[in-house]
Amino acid sequence: MFLENTKNAGSIEVICGSMFSGKTEELIRRLKRAKFARLRVEIFKPKIDTRYSDEEVVSHDSNTIVSTPVDSSTAITLLTGDVDVVGIDEAQFFDKGIVDVCLQLANNGVRVIVAGLDMDFKGKPFGPMPDLMAVADEVTKVHAICVRCGDLAEFSHRKSDSDKLVVLGEQDIYEPLCRRCYLACTDVSDENGDSSGPLC
Ligand code: ZN
Repeated sequence: MFLENTKNAGSIEVICGSMFSGKTEELIRRLKRAKFARLRVEIFKPKIDTRYSDEEVVSHDSNTIVSTPVDSSTAITLLTGDVDVVGIDEAQFFDKGIVDVCLQLANNGVRVIVAGLDMDFKGKPFGPMPDLMAVADEVTKVHAICVRCGDLAEFSHRKSDSDKLVVLGEQDIYEPLCRRCYLACTDVSDENGDSSGPLC
């Protein structure tokens, strides 16, 4: 478990990692502790993520907490008039405005806890996550376990051949891989720029 040095006011915490790394479980754990402390907690997630339920942040082990789905980051500002702690899940799907929303909340004394994918399936920084990590007081990178070799995994490898950035899914579409196994499964270009194509 994490022994985080939590403040109950004016801060931004980012929990990031690949798919199946336990980001949402860690978000839920911190939010539940805030609730035990009788703090006023609000939780948001982007409307795009409709995998399980419209009203709940749900992690893969069904440890749930009720959340509000919102269309855009500005809706979070409108819905956080009187809170101590704000949780945001799947932050990679929000617009860039989420960074200013988090800063504004923290500057007003709110503890903001953000969870999201740090990289997309191509291994590139995902949406507003790099900027959120830059302005955060504390960043926690969590890791999944590589399904091929058992090492720590930081990549979300997409098993389907779709090139769309956002394809929601579970184990049938994505698998967590370590760097070595991820590189072995993705396009590898040689010195002339010729691609050898996917190797698995
Ligand atoms: Zn591996």
